[in-house]
Amino acid sequence: MAAKLLTGKEVAQKMDQDIQKDVLELKAKGINPALRIMIVGEAEDSVYYANSAKKMAEKNGILCEIEQLAGTLSQDEFVNILKQRNADKNIHGIIVMRPFPKQISEDVVKYVLSPEKDVDCFNPVNAGKIMAGDMTGFPPATPQAVMEMLRFYEIPMSGKDAVVIGRSMVVGKPMSMLLLGENATVTVCHSKTKDLPGVCKRADIVVAAIGRAKMITADYIKPGATVMDVGINPEGDKFVGDVNTEAVKEVAGAITPVPGGVGTVTTRVLLKHVVKAAKLQNQ
Ligand code: NAP
Repeated sequence: MAAKLLTGKEVAQKMDQDIQKDVLELKAKGINPALRIMIVGEAEDSVYYANSAKKMAEKNGILCEIEQLAGTLSQDEFVNILKQRNADKNIHGIIVMRPFPKQISEDVVKYVLSPEKDVDCFNPVNAGKIMAGDMTGFPPATPQAVMEMLRFYEIPMSGKDAVVIGRSMVVGKPMSMLLLGENATVTVCHSKTKDLPGVCKRADIVVAAIGRAKMITADYIKPGATVMDVGINPEGDKFVGDVNTEAVKEVAGAITPVPGGVGTVTTRVLLKHVVKAAKLQNQ
């Protein structure tokens, strides 16, 4: 039997409803949730991403301003502007788009962005909060989107064996901590893992965050397992995941498509975080 397709659309719609309800409640108290997206320079990808996030934010009643700064800005100048945004009580969430121009160091800026406004987990304080199980933090959008999907589709996690393939700071590592927080028994795999198919085949939940098109085939998957495909890899004029969906769906119990899966939910997570930040800043 073919696997159940875990599509992102329904999850995103439910999240939109919840966000809009929270936004109305905040507005009734005189709080106008606001997101600031800062771009240094003119990277086309960043501008495109920021514009689509702005559209989604406004659809949900969240104010979103894109602040595009000159690519020639010095690090000190940028740090000063960022500190002013940190201090602005009318801004609740801040995203700083990367990569920066070469004169600006990520390793400096990430500590300047206020952890309370860091809705996409750039400041290591927020990465640390995931480790500590501190719910006042903001996990990165992609692993949090996987969690939103697992919860929405009522996939059991407690006591289950989960394998995360990939150990980046944006996906793999935080993903493993979030699953551990739900009492899964988590194994984290990477490029040096021995017998990856054998390790994956023991898992009830497999999260693929590798960046290798269609690498995960049916022989990695235990019959009935849930497969969450985080990968976004260009193939011709479209994008494919890290999982060979056609083959794996014959074995898995449930699988996310690419496109139309995890990626559909990530922007909603950022908006949910803006609402959370607005609440926490006005307690
Ligand atoms: P990354 O930083 O390149 O990390 C890839 C990870 O995969 C590394 O830990 C690497 O191991 C591991 N890996 C690479 N080849 C492997 C192999 N043959 N066997 C086992 N492990 C292997 O990538 P990322 O930023 O985490 O992104 C992962 C994927 O998710 C990409 O396709 C990216 O486009 C996608 N992504 C999607 C979203 C979304 O919203 N859906 C957001 C962000 C990223 P080592 O550590 O040993 O090198």
